[in-house]
Amino acid sequence: MQFIFLGPPGAGKGTQASILADRWQVPHISTGDILRAAIAGKTSLGIQARTHVEAGELVPDILIMALIRERFEAPDMKQGWILDGFPRTLAQAQALDKLLTRFRQPHPQTIYFEVSTENLANRTLARGRQDDTAATIRRRLAVYQADTTPLIDFYEKRECLINIDGNRSPEAVTQILQASLPVYQSSRLARV
Ligand code: ADP
Repeated sequence: MQFIFLGPPGAGKGTQASILADRWQVPHISTGDILRAAIAGKTSLGIQARTHVEAGELVPDILIMALIRERFEAPDMKQGWILDGFPRTLAQAQALDKLLTRFRQPHPQTIYFEVSTENLANRTLARGRQDDTAATIRRRLAVYQADTTPLIDFYEKRECLINIDGNRSPEAVTQILQASLPVYQSSRLARV
């Protein structure tokens, strides 16, 4: 079970990724969480990433790929994973392809969370994260439109894209996700 959760800021990717990763017992890799922890810990990655995150801009691909590469070296990645907030640019998606080949890992299914602009604005403002000011949210949405939406096409062409209506309540979205991924539901049932 290898998944990419793709969608705009505030789409609920992180919420769903953490619920399903817990249920399926696979790592939930959120590049946003990793970056926020690095910034709080003032690590070398954090120091380099901080101004980008605070401005609502993307952190340079080279830094993101270094952290992803390192994460893929950990043994817990062998059984499956959920990538949340990565890849976010075509260059990252292409670099991920190479990395998966190198680590002999299968290519993931991509779940695309579709959410109305109104819901996105309300949700990001409601969660009150430090980088969730009105100005950075606007910027993050613009960056998403420019740099990340091309990935929808990229994964659609590979026929590995599953569209999910992310406007529903978190509980409803979890149910929709479980129902759309019957293979994983039954493997989960088999384990219980
Ligand atoms: P959101 O879902 O609200 O966009 P994230 O936690 O995924 O929040 O990301 C927060 C910030 O971290 C982004 O605005 C960006 O600055 C940085 N970031 C996270 N993931 C990536 C990535 N894959 N590439 C570049 N920057 C990233």
